[in-house]
Amino acid sequence: MEGMLEVKNLSAGYRLPVVREVSFSVAAGELTALLGRNGSGKSTLLRGLTGGVPWMEGQVLVRGEDCQTLSHRQRARRLALLPQHTPVFPGLRVGEVLEMGRYPWDGPLRPPDRETRARVRAAAEKFGVEGLLERDCAALSQGQRQLVHLARTVVQDAPVLLLDEPNSALDFPNTHQLFRTLTRLLEEGERCALVVLHDPALALRWCTRLLLLEDGRLTGELRPGTTPLGDIQSALGLLYPGIAVKEDKESGHFFCTIE
Ligand code: ATP
Ligand code: MG
Repeated sequence: MEGMLEVKNLSAGYRLPVVREVSFSVAAGELTALLGRNGSGKSTLLRGLTGGVPWMEGQVLVRGEDCQTLSHRQRARRLALLPQHTPVFPGLRVGEVLEMGRYPWDGPLRPPDRETRARVRAAAEKFGVEGLLERDCAALSQGQRQLVHLARTVVQDAPVLLLDEPNSALDFPNTHQLFRTLTRLLEEGERCALVVLHDPALALRWCTRLLLLEDGRLTGELRPGTTPLGDIQSALGLLYPGIAVKEDKESGHFFCTIE
């Protein structure tokens, strides 16, 4: 399906717009990266897509449906956000935090039924946190908590996943495992993902497309495997002055360094 997520001329921000006239679409199955310097507006854009930051102009459509007129809960059935800073929820077990992913569907008061428990276990297994289900969420390490919240966004079962620096607390193997898991998840069904990343090599390795954000505006788009290396180098060079991008011909993997 083309354009599972479509963003048309979106401006969003606080008192003044931070994200300005942004348009793009993400097709089903696409794992798209959003890259930009600190303060460029990546988190504002992701929160803007869910309505967490006020829209000033433009449209956000999921499967062709305009999200503006939807309630918060209806929106959460369509867009699942992993925030940059994951909440701690003192006193809640990991299993209970994962069950919260079902609130947009079941409401907060319904006790988890067999289907919810099955979804929670399946998502926990995807991210390797099934052994933590009985633990107090506040007593986890940062990386463990990030994996739990990733599982929670999957329990939410929305077609659009918005992940804000999902690997910021993850170790090296878990970072790559995360992308393997996301790739498999997107192959499984009607989903797409927009993922904020700071590591261009990681984005080039795992994502089908890279969107470049500068000062609240989209300034470029790269497709690893299609965009010539010279064009990748020039576009990333504007975003990250001094960067050198190299491709290992044998593996097809990219390496980045700052000269
Ligand atoms: P980082 O890579 O550091 O996470 P970012 O690209 O996610 O950066 P945002 O958090 O979207 O950047 O911030 C973009 C701009 O919006 C910054 O200038 C920031 O100061 C401003 N901003 C962020 N949150 C708020 C807020 N709650 N109220 C007012 N301005 C804000
Ligand atoms: Mg951010």
